[in-house]
Amino acid sequence: MTWLSAGWPHIWLPYAQMKTAKPSLPVARTEGSRIYLEDGRVLIDGIASWWTAVHGYNHPHIRQAVARQLETMPHVMFGGLAHEPAYTLATRLAALLPASLNRVFFTDSGSVAVEVAIKIAVQSRLNRGFRGRTKILAFTGGYHGDTMGTMAICDPEEGMHSLFTGLLPEHPVIPLPRDPESTAAFDYFLEQHGQTLAAIIVEPLVQGAGGMVLHPPAVLRHLRAAATRHNLTLIFDEIFSGFGRTGTMFAYEQAGVTPDIITLSKALTGGTSPLAVTIATDELFEAFLSDSPATALMHGPTFMANPLGCAAANASLDLFESEPRLAQAAAISKQLAAELEPCRHLPGVIDVRTLGAIGVVQLENIENPAALRARLVEQNVWIRPFRDIIYLTPALTIAPADLTHLTTAIKTVLISA
Ligand code: PMP
Repeated sequence: MTWLSAGWPHIWLPYAQMKTAKPSLPVARTEGSRIYLEDGRVLIDGIASWWTAVHGYNHPHIRQAVARQLETMPHVMFGGLAHEPAYTLATRLAALLPASLNRVFFTDSGSVAVEVAIKIAVQSRLNRGFRGRTKILAFTGGYHGDTMGTMAICDPEEGMHSLFTGLLPEHPVIPLPRDPESTAAFDYFLEQHGQTLAAIIVEPLVQGAGGMVLHPPAVLRHLRAAATRHNLTLIFDEIFSGFGRTGTMFAYEQAGVTPDIITLSKALTGGTSPLAVTIATDELFEAFLSDSPATALMHGPTFMANPLGCAAANASLDLFESEPRLAQAAAISKQLAAELEPCRHLPGVIDVRTLGAIGVVQLENIENPAALRARLVEQNVWIRPFRDIIYLTPALTIAPADLTHLTTAIKTVLISA
């Protein structure tokens, strides 16, 4: 394939040691839960392109909405100009979320949405005259993005804090309050340092990129109470968990608590194009209102509220209304639990866990994730093991037989390990 061999010397892949990286699998097209390779092979997709394609690839309703938008206006700047897809999307998102979460700031990636959340938390306090509250409390095992600000609130090892010492801002990162010991340590930390903090940030119910580690809803209730007690902004980063992945439209619903800021991206457009939002409460928004331009929120990405992305997101929300996505997520959850459970007894497996449409098989270790991935491709599936886990986050529309094919492939490679 000429484009592949001509382009390969110019490509720099994510998180890859390029000295040993093999050229990626060339894809001709995608449809539903299928990836069609250039060489004629067809893979069943187990991870929906980093959990984005919740309706499967190329859903006709989203495709038509984007095509229509492309005809009239692929993009126009958002500073000073308004367009229907963004205003409608903001209205619909505000209606989906608790009444207090009302103000939508558009960005173009999850990391930047989190950056904006940090800015809102810190600047709202500065605007109200409170100085010295510039730290964000984050949790070990957490992941919030790859930009400088977000790396600093990731798990210290994964966020490469020591590698980038001196470059990254420093924020406290402590264990989630998930048992009596960590809860006591968390409460004590807030008593000691609460005055330096602007916010607490957490991925509700599941720390995704940190290894799909689950925590119960009670943890979120504890965070909510502590944030309120210490006057902190509670940020729920639902970039992974949003839009049905954990079984409810948003993960916070399972805890019955409301954050002060929510960040959404990934499945927002049904995985069609890059778009993200940071949605804040009226109370936070009001901290930016004054007679001075100096208290305005100082952020504005060039491609914010891109009309193609907003059209895709509106079409994706249509599908959540017209098709039984949450029932599909519940059915996937049952099937994943039943079909992955036998893995518990296979060699090297230390845990099997499921939440909503997330299925995880955790191993003692995975020595060579690339080799394991290649063996999964031989089973005609696209599953990308990382750290010590093999996980499934399929499209919510996946057919039961395709899901069985995925879980069987996992069992096959584990048995023949
Ligand atoms: N937050 C969470 C919880 C994520 O899972 C991710 C992406 N994996 C991000 C933030 C960053 O999003 P992006 O890759 O779009 O910058």
